[in-house]
Amino acid sequence: MLTSDLLRAGPGVRLADIDPRGTPGVTSRKDPKQWSRVEVSLIGAELASHQEMLYADAKAGSDPRRVLLVLQAMDCGGKDGTVKNVVGQFDPLGLRIVSFGAPTKEELAHPFLWRIKNALPPAGYVGVFNRSHYEDVLIVRVHDLVPRRVWARRYDTINRFEAELVGEGYTLVKVMLHISKEEQRKRLADRLSDPTKHWKYNPGDIDERGYWDDYQEAYQAVLDRCSTEAAPWYVVPADRKWYRNYAVAALLREAFEGLNLKYPKADFDLKNEVKRLEASM
Ligand code: AMP
Ligand code: MG
Repeated sequence: MLTSDLLRAGPGVRLADIDPRGTPGVTSRKDPKQWSRVEVSLIGAELASHQEMLYADAKAGSDPRRVLLVLQAMDCGGKDGTVKNVVGQFDPLGLRIVSFGAPTKEELAHPFLWRIKNALPPAGYVGVFNRSHYEDVLIVRVHDLVPRRVWARRYDTINRFEAELVGEGYTLVKVMLHISKEEQRKRLADRLSDPTKHWKYNPGDIDERGYWDDYQEAYQAVLDRCSTEAAPWYVVPADRKWYRNYAVAALLREAFEGLNLKYPKADFDLKNEVKRLEASM
């Protein structure tokens, strides 16, 4: 079965019923970590080859297609690790990775999608959003950073925006890395006990942790309202990093396979160019 079919957030999906320690589609292995490392690097080679075709095709003509991976998760959910282990296998030349933090003063003066539109990948590129416009219905909803009537409208705005992107040639792969509260506690404890991880720790993370249930509710609303046909959400159980890496790599591979990419045909006379090269020696 396709990973995308196993993990897609369909109608009636209940986040609370999805086990963050689950490993859908992967039968038990003796050494799952080692298995995943090998599998992810094999998939990585395929991803890089798809990416090259995407890039070449955009360069050669007017193919508008591009792939955008949207990563969302609770703090310590593994977004950065996913970028490093999975996205890191793409050619950096054709990658556009953008992290979204709290909006700047300038960004706040614009509609919430303004900074998102400015960060979209060009045709032929693979884009990665490390957090995204969904923060505007997650942290913003949990803390009422704008009035409810304002954030409540955003689900439809987001759906329209994403449908437009898909119409323009974007393939969206929207991934929620789903961790348990206990796993977050462990990862925060890890950050505290290791001086080389203190830079990743933010005292505010403990405050946010206090809103765990509100965040789960906000994520549930995202899955209910914004997992559309054009741009579905995938929920990746993420307590086990080896499964998370494998699942995101597999989702990306399936998205690329759906594009049926091919190298562009030469736009020059091959025989003639070979002759010219020989004559030039
Ligand atoms: P980090 O990913 O650890 O660098 O943290 C970035 C912080 O920025 C997180 O706490 C996000 O929730 C927050 N953030 C991202 N987007 C928004 C937004 N649109 N409004 C408010 N806070 C945001
Ligand atoms: Mg953080």
